[in-house]
Amino acid sequence: MKKGMTRREREVTDRNEIVDILSKCKVVHLGLMDGDEPYVVAMNYGFTMEDEKLTLYLHGAVQGKKLDLIQENPKVFFEMECDVVPFQGKIACQYGTSYASVMGKGKAEILTDIEDKKKGLSIFMKTQTGKDFEFEDKMVSIVSVIRIQVSEYTAKRRPMPVL
Ligand SMILES: Cc1cc2nc3c(=O)[nH]c(=O)nc-3n(C[C@H](O)[C@H](O)[C@H](O)COP(=O)(O)OP(=O)(O)OC[C@H]3O[C@@H](n4cnc5c(N)ncnc54)[C@H](O)[C@@H]3O)c2cc1C
Repeated sequence: MKKGMTRREREVTDRNEIVDILSKCKVVHLGLMDGDEPYVVAMNYGFTMEDEKLTLYLHGAVQGKKLDLIQENPKVFFEMECDVVPFQGKIACQYGTSYASVMGKGKAEILTDIEDKKKGLSIFMKTQTGKDFEFEDKMVSIVSVIRIQVSEYTAKRRPMPVL
């Protein structure tokens, strides 16, 4: 069931602001299916936004549960957040947390082509560090690189309240 955002006024639709959130978050919570049960892992990521098309790149060890699950079912859901600042109030229900976040769904693929993996790792490092890196074949062969073609996403920002 596709449903709009409940707090519509908090939805972020400006592309530049969404890119800013994606640049800041650094860690994505990746949701996978383990048969009929959910499985979530935190991972660092890189991203590209070409026109409105969002692609995520992740990297890690060449074996493990998440890779096994992606091979069984490549459908993923993800969430990431930044600008997380708790705030206080006079009464309990005035306490809260300001944040910015992005979530969405897509299809994950474990890259096998060495040039695709190098590209993914360069994008990953650019997002994580702001710097350009080059990769030798040997370094690339000992890590896995996951590309997620995002099919749908939304972004949201809860600002600090004016008290
Ligand atoms: C902030 C942050 C950033 C991270 N960035 C990356 C990254 O960029 N790349 C990367 O590969 N990993 C990253 N990790 C680690 C990641 O969350 C997983 O632990 C790791 O990728 C192994 O996942 P796996 O599915 O292969 O688990 P496996 O190593 O196959 O382990 C299987 C079992 O171990 C347990 N387990 C695995 N991971 C965790 C965990 N994090 N906490 C508690 N129990 C766990 C679970 O019970 C799981 O079923 C990050 C973790 C954090 C918290």
